[in-house]
Amino acid sequence: MKKLALHWKILIGMVLGIAWGFISIKAGWNEFTTDWVKPWGIIFINLLKLIAVPLILVSLINGISNLTDITKLSRIGLKSISLYIISTVIAISVGLILVNATQPGKLFPENKREAFQEKYQFNIEKSRANSEMVKKQGPLQKIVDIVPDNLFSSMSDNSKMLQVIFFAILFGIAMVMLPTNQIKAVKDVVNSLNEIVLKIIEIIMRAAPYGVFALLGSLIVDVAGEKMDDTLDLFAALGLYALTVILGLLILVVFIYPIFIHFFAKVKYLKFLSGIFPAQLLAFSTSSSAATLPVTMECVEKNLGVSKEVSSFVLPLGATINMDGTSLYQAVAAIFIAHAFGFELTLSMQLTIVLTATLASIGSAAVPGAGMVMLVIVLESIGLPAEGIALIFAVDRPLDMLRTVVNITGDSTISSIVAHSEGKLNHIV
Ligand code: ASP
Repeated sequence: MKKLALHWKILIGMVLGIAWGFISIKAGWNEFTTDWVKPWGIIFINLLKLIAVPLILVSLINGISNLTDITKLSRIGLKSISLYIISTVIAISVGLILVNATQPGKLFPENKREAFQEKYQFNIEKSRANSEMVKKQGPLQKIVDIVPDNLFSSMSDNSKMLQVIFFAILFGIAMVMLPTNQIKAVKDVVNSLNEIVLKIIEIIMRAAPYGVFALLGSLIVDVAGEKMDDTLDLFAALGLYALTVILGLLILVVFIYPIFIHFFAKVKYLKFLSGIFPAQLLAFSTSSSAATLPVTMECVEKNLGVSKEVSSFVLPLGATINMDGTSLYQAVAAIFIAHAFGFELTLSMQLTIVLTATLASIGSAAVPGAGMVMLVIVLESIGLPAEGIALIFAVDRPLDMLRTVVNITGDSTISSIVAHSEGKLNHIV
């Protein structure tokens, strides 16, 4: 019998995990699930995060050192960053148009606002402290943050991926500039390290079906524990808000990316989607583009034919700075909260949202819930209270799962386009 492909196993794991979650709630096994099932999900995510920094480091150094000249690198870099910004602005515009049409915030029951703010006070304080810190910084702080003063401290913190990327690029460039005989030993080592890291990822991925089972099973149990006293209005408002985000994400996947892929990468979109499907499943289950990165890279290289040279540079960068799903969500959420608080938004405020959501999505770490933390910055830029995030907390996790799928789909789209434009897309699909 032919062995079942990994992504089908992951899908089965997801379905069984969700079923397990509901059975646990019905049968009163919540404690068992939290004590004995959830830890396996955490272990799985930890393993993926564990390999993220070594992967970025060796694959970027390997990728760049294989380039023969620096101009090529700066060309690929410029193309990727421009495309990332264009796709982010398109995503935010889609979100803004939709939320202005559906206006879910206007359905929000006034008497519920305070109850929500109280319930989520702790998280609000944390997010606010975060945004205060960002506000105190000067205009160039974002650039200062990219340049580490100690490599080991950057590598010891997963939220400092951009610093690791910076070092890897510098290291790679130095290798390209030196004569081959002087770097041969390091090149061989990096090559072997690359193979080893890829093998480790393969090993981790064998556990993926069980990992996603545990993640989704315990997620259902956790969410059910947070039951709130909903009223019909509240349900309608939150439901319409969630639907608006979902519709926006769908528009990106069903209309925008296909246009990009068709015209600029010359690949059949369905083939593209089936190629990255395993990565999408994992993005959905882990809610983290960083944790999904190893699989995104593998899918894009093996299934779409993007050369390593391009993928090893464009994808790690995209996982950290390109978040189309997150930026769309931030735009919708900001307007939803504004309306729920009774604010009317002017055109200039909406333009401010485009700008700050672009920056906030670039600044969001590729981990679960990061987009919501950065939302505080968008809210404050248009004079809204940070407490606003309390209103959307309850539905954030499922939206996080979906926007992460879109985030990695966007990264894969851009990497295919860059590869095509460089003649580095081997049309195996
Ligand atoms: N979870 C998202 C990601 O990793 C970020 C976010 O929107 O929270 O891509």
